Amino acid sequence: MGNAEVLEDRKKFIYEKEEGCGGNGMRCDTDSVSGSVSQRACVYCGARVVLNPITDAFHIVHGPIGCASYTWDIRGSLSSGDELYRNSFSTDLREADVIFGGEKRLTLAIDEIAEKYHPKLIFVYATCIVGVIGDDVEAVCKVMSEKYNMRVIPVKSPGFSGNKSLGYKIACNAIMELILPHHPPKGKGINILGDFNLAGELWIIRDYLKKIGIPVVTAFTGDSSYDTLIKAPSARLNIVQCAGSSTYLANRMEEEMGIPFIKVSFFGIEDTASSLIRIAEALEDEAARQKAIDFVREEAEKLEDFLNLYRRNLKGKRAAIYVGGGFKAISLIRQFKDLGMETVVVGTQTGKKDDYEIIAGLVDKNTVILDDATPSELEKFMKEKRADILVGGVKERPLAYKLGIAFCDHNHERKHPLCGFDGVVNFVKEINSSMNNPVWNYIREEL
Ligand code: SF4
Repeated sequence: MGNAEVLEDRKKFIYEKEEGCGGNGMRCDTDSVSGSVSQRACVYCGARVVLNPITDAFHIVHGPIGCASYTWDIRGSLSSGDELYRNSFSTDLREADVIFGGEKRLTLAIDEIAEKYHPKLIFVYATCIVGVIGDDVEAVCKVMSEKYNMRVIPVKSPGFSGNKSLGYKIACNAIMELILPHHPPKGKGINILGDFNLAGELWIIRDYLKKIGIPVVTAFTGDSSYDTLIKAPSARLNIVQCAGSSTYLANRMEEEMGIPFIKVSFFGIEDTASSLIRIAEALEDEAARQKAIDFVREEAEKLEDFLNLYRRNLKGKRAAIYVGGGFKAISLIRQFKDLGMETVVVGTQTGKKDDYEIIAGLVDKNTVILDDATPSELEKFMKEKRADILVGGVKERPLAYKLGIAFCDHNHERKHPLCGFDGVVNFVKEINSSMNNPVWNYIREEL
């Protein structure tokens, strides 16, 4: 299918605000259109996003070596303890294994890791080819768990079996398999779901919560470990940051462990402030609520002069947003609005109907809203809407640069945190220096 046909075929995916989400409105949370190379990653990659940050887990990729290239190096997350998760293991299946089966190779790989490192936890990812040849990965994991008295959890995630969202769900099921047998006594703490501590965000959020008197049991899964994760059932509340990857886990924990949850976001002043206050309210902790109100007021006041200075440069600029999940897109729209900027294009890889309804309520009716976009669509709409900056991830970066549009990395490759009050400073400085860089004058002249 050529570009023009794909675009034509996908017109039905473009949300017309007046029509709402049902009927002929936007379709989301579905598999990608056949033949269209969208910006989404595969099922296995989705699972790896969620599980990889567990710092003392071993991740064995059962499949050809290519799948194993998806490592910590291209999707970093920070640890305050173990660094084991930065290693990558693969069974490196070859032609003979495809013909005769790869279970023996997998058994040998687990044997080697168990004898050398004595881990508490191994995840075994079954990728595309294993889904085709039908290795009994579950049986191998069960036998090896018993042999070494450790947790070996299968993550059956062949890339072809759906989309990235399915990978998230499969990873959430693996986490439930890990924590369900544990019944620690109830405590005072909360769990943070959907934060992967890419650049230290978890430490910022944990520090804010500590300031208002709320302890954190564990995060799923940034800077987590086997020992912190199995304490998760002791939490009084789950807060869900990346809703796309973790709402399913939150629902299961609510149903099966009685832990309620609320959705939060720590991107931007408005969302950080309201999240801290809502967490205290959900815990019915009046002292924490009062501390949260005081804390967010002080922090917001500290930022006022800084923001006023930058607003002069940013006012009237047009932003395009293309990120993984809806929660981040929503926070970004609010942040741009606060800076006097307009969001002219906004899209996500795995946003849900609820997310798009909120997005539609926040943006102008002429804003283009996209789900599971292709590069051609992003290009077309960014040009049409004359975006000054694109906020996205590694796959969107070259697209922006080729079009002479400034870019801000809001994904897994960045090295500075963009969350909380600290993150506001980093974000504003980055978009200002990127957008107002004189290089664009020369590049745009060339195009
Ligand atoms: S699509 Fe299949 S082969 Fe490709 S990376 Fe994903 S699991 Fe591996």
